[in-house]
Amino acid sequence: MITATLCLKFTEVMALCPPVYLPDPSLMSTEGKPLMKRSVVLLLITMFSVGCAPKDAGQWIPLFDGHSLAGWKVSEHPNSVRVIDGMIVVEGPRAHAFYVGDSGSATFRNFELQAEVMASPGANSGIFFHTAYQEEGWPEKGYEVQINNTHKGDGDYRELKKTGSLYGIRSLFKAPVKDDEWFSLHIIVRGQRVVVQVNGMTVVDYIEPEAPVGDDSGPRLSSGTFALQAHDPGSKVFFRDIKVKPLPDDIDEGTDEQPVVDHYYALISRLNSQNFPMIDYHVHLKGTLTLEDALAKSRRSGIYYGIAVNCGIGFPVNSDEGIYEFLESMEGQPVFVAMQAEGREWVNTFSREAIAQFDYVFSDALTFTDDNGKRTRLWIKEDVDVQDKQAFMDMYVDRIQSVINDEPIDIFVNPTFLPEVIEDEYDALWTEERMLKVIDAAVANQVAIEINARYRIPSATFIKLGKTRGVKFAFGTNNGDENFGNLEYCLDMLEECGLTNEDMFIPNLDG
Ligand SMILES: [Zn+2]
Repeated sequence: MITATLCLKFTEVMALCPPVYLPDPSLMSTEGKPLMKRSVVLLLITMFSVGCAPKDAGQWIPLFDGHSLAGWKVSEHPNSVRVIDGMIVVEGPRAHAFYVGDSGSATFRNFELQAEVMASPGANSGIFFHTAYQEEGWPEKGYEVQINNTHKGDGDYRELKKTGSLYGIRSLFKAPVKDDEWFSLHIIVRGQRVVVQVNGMTVVDYIEPEAPVGDDSGPRLSSGTFALQAHDPGSKVFFRDIKVKPLPDDIDEGTDEQPVVDHYYALISRLNSQNFPMIDYHVHLKGTLTLEDALAKSRRSGIYYGIAVNCGIGFPVNSDEGIYEFLESMEGQPVFVAMQAEGREWVNTFSREAIAQFDYVFSDALTFTDDNGKRTRLWIKEDVDVQDKQAFMDMYVDRIQSVINDEPIDIFVNPTFLPEVIEDEYDALWTEERMLKVIDAAVANQVAIEINARYRIPSATFIKLGKTRGVKFAFGTNNGDENFGNLEYCLDMLEECGLTNEDMFIPNLDG
């Protein structure tokens, strides 16, 4: 596993980590133990081939002296990386500043890296680890921790991965920090585990599977150095106080927490690598599920969550005050925060200002007043009165159209849900004419339609029809408690109906 840097000159070794003593054998890598019997030179070379980790394990080493790029080697466009007032500033055509150390070949395997970072509006950048110097292009080796609060992407490409994302592996779809404000970025690699913290908040906790998943083109943990990215002329980012704490080589954290790489895990991995919005927009803190539990589950699954609170008369949140209380409890968390609007009177229950604080709003048409004036909740058997199935369906479709046309929602959820008494006749009752009424209302009002994992709706027929009409879809679970899956039905539909990034909803957080 140790990348060979045995060509390292002895004088460089001495310069890299003076002073040199015989190391404490307990700090050596497993390969290091028998070395005590070999010559001192060989011992030292082996030791420094892993970037001083044994000797310096546990000590913070500054990587930036505050006034020069000593120890750094910049590729492609050296002028894109400058030192100004104690900061490394990246701005200009693509370049990467690789940390090479005094030796020219600094190497790290397990470590903690800390940096203070500030991004300008629209900027894209990143910190690479386990990488290696290359003359030009995007670094091919190693992982990147993304820096991007408001960068939109170039041309047709829309960059969704925000600050703190482990690029292409674990995505944050909402920036946890703001432009023009300093934040701390903390990257910890211990064995098979990668943790990213932004301002002390864990936003990524990734266990790398033992074997590569999919086509083997993704990054792999190994060893290497760090790089700072100058992404493009429109991206200006500041770095200061960059330091690393090398950790011993023989940490095997994560080996007993290996993910089960089944079909869905592999599919989620591929979608994450393709900038797909791998998001469950409809997660409730119900049953025993706490926010902490939800975040832990999200980090393991690779699915970003939208945490939704039910808002309406007779629901947990029934006033503006309740909205602000809930929002405060979610402040700064790496999740979307969503309003599930309940009943048809919600529009008048809350102020526009309070509603606008959510990342998005959704509702369903499970609650309505039928043509006989009866309040109906479709999931409650006693509420449901179906005399004539066709007449019921026509009335129901009319209610759905009203919700989509008249209520200021972003996503229509639990779509095409049928009450138990007629659910077996789903395919017959959801005629093409009825489906099109729902689909066309959604398109006309720019309302996305949920693909619901819990009820396994809508049908593939509906989704294919919606796709041809330009509907945007959003994956959601609508869990009733702490036991829920990883969007299996949605992923089945993605494959069966050929859904791509272009078919998917993304909330507009710019207002
Ligand atoms: Zn719900």
